[in-house]
Amino acid sequence: MKFSIVRYTEVEQARVEYPVRIVSPPQASMCCVERNRAQVGRTETDAGDNYCYKRCRICGHTVRFFFSPRYKSSAFEVSVFEERCGQTLH
Ligand SMILES: [Zn+2]
Repeated sequence: MKFSIVRYTEVEQARVEYPVRIVSPPQASMCCVERNRAQVGRTETDAGDNYCYKRCRICGHTVRFFFSPRYKSSAFEVSVFEERCGQTLH
């Protein structure tokens, strides 16, 4: 599993430095609905799963969005779970 390039922080301004990193607010807000999210960069593949980064154009909150059926139910929660695992493993 590749690491997400999304960095969740309250300290830094939300910005896109794709493909190196995407700085995102830690929490999604009311504005972060599907119609406000735009794909950042191209679709990538991780172990056979296609995903892309989707960013809210209002506040900059970004998630890693998987197209694969097994992630279909909650792409957002999978992404947050990965971030938390990444933090505790350090
Ligand atoms: Zn938003």
